[in-house]
Amino acid sequence: MRCLAIGLGTWKSGKGEVGRAVKAAIKSGYRHIDCAATYGNEAEIGEAFSEIFKEGKIKREEVWVTSKLWNNAHKKEDVIPALKQTLTDLELDYLDLYLIHWPVAFKPDVASPKKDEDYLSLEEAPILDTWKMLREAKEQGLVKHIGVSNFSRKKLQDLMAESNENPELNQVELHPYLQQQELLEFCKQNNIHLTGYSPLGSGDRPEGMKASNEPSLLENEVIIEIAEKHQASAYQILISWHLTRDTAVIPKSTNPGRIEENLKSSEIKLDKEDLEKITKLNKHFRYVTGEFFVTPGNSYEDIYDEKK
Ligand code: NAP
Repeated sequence: MRCLAIGLGTWKSGKGEVGRAVKAAIKSGYRHIDCAATYGNEAEIGEAFSEIFKEGKIKREEVWVTSKLWNNAHKKEDVIPALKQTLTDLELDYLDLYLIHWPVAFKPDVASPKKDEDYLSLEEAPILDTWKMLREAKEQGLVKHIGVSNFSRKKLQDLMAESNENPELNQVELHPYLQQQELLEFCKQNNIHLTGYSPLGSGDRPEGMKASNEPSLLENEVIIEIAEKHQASAYQILISWHLTRDTAVIPKSTNPGRIEENLKSSEIKLDKEDLEKITKLNKHFRYVTGEFFVTPGNSYEDIYDEKK
C-alpha cells in the first residue's frame, strides 16, 4: 500500500526516534513526510532520507516532502537562507512543498517570543513579501510547490488579492471537533488543497499548551461506536474521515506498529450514516490554539480572524 494522502507528522518526534520513525513509515508505504525547521529534527530526518535513497529501492521523486518556514525568517532576505538550511538538514536538493508556517512574524533572532517587541509588524514583514520569496524559491527550483499554514479564509483572500499566484495548499488543524467546512469549501472553489494537522488531538503536546477539560476525540462515544462497527481503532476512524473529505492528513507517531496502523486507515470506508454522525460532533474546538503567539499587541483575533 502506498499513500500520499496520509503523511507522517514529525512535530515532537525526538532525537534518536524520528529517523527510525521516518524509515519505518517509508517501509510501510508512506510516501509523504511532514517536516518543519522549528521541530528541531530535520537533520536526523535527512540522515534517514539519505540512507533510504542510497539503498535505491525508493527514489527521491517517489516521496513527497513538506517543510515550513519558521516565523523568525519572514523578512525577504531571510527566506531563501532558511529554506537552504532546511534543504541541507534534510539532505535534499528540493522540497515538494514549502509553507509559511504561521501568519505571524518574529524578529530574526527570536525563536519563541515573550513580548510585543519580539514580533515584527505586518508593515515590517508583509506576508506578501515573504510569499514573493517563496515564489522566487520555486522559480529557482528549490521547491516544487508553495503554500501556507494556519491561514484563515480572510488571510487567504488578502494574499490572493495581492498576488497573482495563489497558495497551492493550506495546512490547518482539522478533526471532527474542528471541521472548518467553510474554509474547506472556499479552498476547494479556489483550487487550494487542505492538509489536516493534529488529527488525533495532539495528545503529546507539552502540558503548557493544553487547556483544562479538553474534549477527547479518542474517548468520544460516536467515534468509538463507529470504530467498533468497522472493527478498527478510534485512531483509524479519525484518520479515514479526512480521506472522505479529500484532504490530506498527517498523524504523528514514532511507534512502528502505530505508524502502520495509521496508514491502514485508508482501507476503511466510512458510510453516509457514519459521516452524518461525525458531522454533528463539530464544536470549532482547537487543540493548537496559537495562544503562544498572543501578546498585548498580537491578539487571538489577529491570528485566526475569529473570536475565541
Ligand atoms: P496528532 O497526530 O494528532 O497526535 C499525535 C499523538 O498521537 C502522539 O502522542 C502519538 O503517540 C499518538 N498516536 C498516533 N497514532 C497512534 C495510534 N495509532 N495509537 C495510539 N496513539 C497514537 O498530533 P500532532 O503531532 O499535533 O499533529 C500531527 C502533525 O501535524 C505534527 O506532527 C506536525 O507534523 C503537523 N502539525 C503542523 C502544525 C502547523 O502549525 N502547521 C501544527 C501542529 C501539527 P506515539 O508517537 O507514541 O505513537
